[in-house]
Amino acid sequence: MSELLHLEKKCDFCGTCVAVCPHDAIDLAEFHLTIIKDRCTLCMNCVYICPVRALEHSDE
Ligand code: SF4
Ligand code: SF4
Repeated sequence: MSELLHLEKKCDFCGTCVAVCPHDAIDLAEFHLTIIKDRCTLCMNCVYICPVRALEHSDE
């Protein structure tokens, strides 16, 4: 199944991905980031913009 993975150990919680998500599908609360799967269209904006590559698209 296609989905977006968040690699918490790499993330520095900068909030950049939240700002570029067109569907408000990323929830960032202090040091916890949640992908709201029902809203995510896998547009990849966040994957491309994350400065530390903490978001990955998975096909498994
Ligand atoms: S852009 Fe990357 S490092 Fe920044 S909050 Fe999002 S996943 Fe974390
Ligand atoms: S892939 Fe697109 S829709 Fe999904 S969380 Fe990232 S920016 Fe939002």
